[in-house]
Amino acid sequence: MAQFALAGNPNIGKTSLFNILTGTYEYVGNWSGVTVEKKVGKLRKHNGTLIDLPGIYSLNPMTADETVVTHFLLEEGNSTILNIVNAAQLKRNLYLTIQLLEYEKPLLIALNMIDVAKNNGIHINTKKLETLLHVPVVPIIARTGWGRTELEEQLQHTADQDVSPLRVNYGDLEYFIEQIAGLIPDGHISKRWLALQIIENNETVISTIREKCSFEKVESLLIVAQTALETDDLEKIIRKVRNDLIHSIIEEIEEVTEKNQQKKLSTEKVDALLMHRYLGMPIFLVVMFLIFKATFDWIGGPLSEILDGLLSGPITDWITAGLSVMGASSFLQSLVIDGIVAGVGGVLVFIPQIFTLFLLISLIEDSGYMTRVAVVMDKLLEKVGLNGKAFIPMIIGFGCNVPGVMAARTIEQPKERLLTILLTPLMSCSARLPVYTLFAGIFFAANQALLVLSLYVLGIVVALILALIFSKTMMKGEPSMFIVELPPYRMPHMQTLFRSTWEKGKGFLRKAGTIIFAGSVMIWFLSYAGPAGFDVEMSDSYLAMLGNFLGTLFAPLGFGTWQAGAALITGFLAKEVVVSTMNIIYQAPDVASLQVVISQHFTMLKAYSFMAFILLYVPCLATVGVIKKETESAKWTWFSILYGLAIAYVLSLIIYQGGKLLGLE
Ligand code: GDP
Ligand code: MG
Repeated sequence: MAQFALAGNPNIGKTSLFNILTGTYEYVGNWSGVTVEKKVGKLRKHNGTLIDLPGIYSLNPMTADETVVTHFLLEEGNSTILNIVNAAQLKRNLYLTIQLLEYEKPLLIALNMIDVAKNNGIHINTKKLETLLHVPVVPIIARTGWGRTELEEQLQHTADQDVSPLRVNYGDLEYFIEQIAGLIPDGHISKRWLALQIIENNETVISTIREKCSFEKVESLLIVAQTALETDDLEKIIRKVRNDLIHSIIEEIEEVTEKNQQKKLSTEKVDALLMHRYLGMPIFLVVMFLIFKATFDWIGGPLSEILDGLLSGPITDWITAGLSVMGASSFLQSLVIDGIVAGVGGVLVFIPQIFTLFLLISLIEDSGYMTRVAVVMDKLLEKVGLNGKAFIPMIIGFGCNVPGVMAARTIEQPKERLLTILLTPLMSCSARLPVYTLFAGIFFAANQALLVLSLYVLGIVVALILALIFSKTMMKGEPSMFIVELPPYRMPHMQTLFRSTWEKGKGFLRKAGTIIFAGSVMIWFLSYAGPAGFDVEMSDSYLAMLGNFLGTLFAPLGFGTWQAGAALITGFLAKEVVVSTMNIIYQAPDVASLQVVISQHFTMLKAYSFMAFILLYVPCLATVGVIKKETESAKWTWFSILYGLAIAYVLSLIIYQGGKLLGLE
């Protein structure tokens, strides 16, 4: 079975291409660093697999991503490489192409973004490019699937053919390349490529070769080369030769017409506004505010009401009727209606809000705006010991903290990476949204969007302050640079948009069927049973006993009831479970009546303190798991749990007691 590996620069449509060739779906985002692990899919047209490697600019490892690609090349000698190249930015892209050509395995080029290039007035002579590089070049538009058939045909040909790709001549260095290659034992990988990678200081290659041959000889050859060529930076020579070559290739194959000047100008104007030193941040806040407005007031909220009506009305009636027809015992009836329907249904009601939010976030991602926000945030993040790259995991964290924490892998500097992992859980993920929505509807009905925005901002502000404190006290490390390529503004593509919304939202649905379901059954059981037996008064149940204990601790924060305590314990499973718990405990048939009950137990101030607590206290179970996996450290995992609890306690205390002093209660 043939194996193909997809390699290319970040943010040029690799994942889009992967999806059309394999018919599966992976996360597509209009920014760099979205794909962090290699992914494997089955090709639709061939008997073969396709591997989606992380996007990189060159093979010389600086980040975890780049190491992944080099490792892959070292280990998997039998793949055909599908090199995806951005037609609109050939110059930057061809650098990696040259390194891949030197690998001397079958390779073909998918020249992507033909539409963007055309729009920018760039015309590329693909036939000529083929002749210059000695490999097939297929123009495509990954986003729409244009050119897919040609590419699929070419894939098979290339896999079957012998290769003699372009061989770059490094002039005076050639002698040493050959000498070094001569020292490397035979294997399935091009010795010339290995030699070049060693000269380029590719750590991953060096450490592999070190084990296999007498590396001192290689090292002394490198020193001889440095003396002979009068430089201590041999890599520079290689870079220069490659860049000159790229330059001459581009001269030959690319024609640029003037018509793109106009467009460039308008992009620059928009950029100047969106990334303005003072206006950038306020504009982002306004955009977020509008997004929440749509989520709660314009689209999500009204839809949610309809859904709630259905769930609490006809659907519950049918289930009840069904159960009595089946002659279910009262135990079973209570389990289904008071436990599962209340617990799972109570969370499902918020699907419209969650999907609206995700749709809109996907929209600003795909349009290219989010990358600009990262640039705006970079200045701020730099001041607190992070950098703009940390913004991407954080934004992903708004959907769900788990992939957010994973996305921190794109950050090369260990200190910045650890900080990002620790702080991403403070980003308000979608699981918290049902809690906010429930409470906001009671106490902040007129200003739901503003209230929720304030909680999101609270999470960010706390994260920034903690980053500053942590980086000044516990962690040392040099700051790294944040270089981001600004993607062009793109008209969002409907299909991509819906897919990425679904991708973000499906986790929520899956959770409803698994952990929220299990949590609801458990909570219902704990509320149904007590020391005195089954079907006890709820205030005599095990749940009440557990909750009571915490309730006392939380009294100074404004929510000293056993119900709140119980909801917080179960909320560790997943934050939505807080809502399930409240539904089960307060036995309310629909959102409106649950809100009436809650309004008797909370005040506006207490509610805000409670929401802030939910936002900040321990990351959920799944996030804790991924923190453990990513940091490989029990110490940091415990730290993330404990500091969260401490911060949440202190902050809620300040909110509640401070608010009382101000007479807000
Ligand atoms: P990756 O980071 O390389 O995996 O790139 P993605 O597949 O995530 O795509 C990055 C962005 O480019 C997304 O917004 C895609 O919709 C967009 N995109 C991908 N291919 C094309 C294309 O051929 N034309 C246009 N206009 N946009 C594309
Ligand atoms: Mg990708």
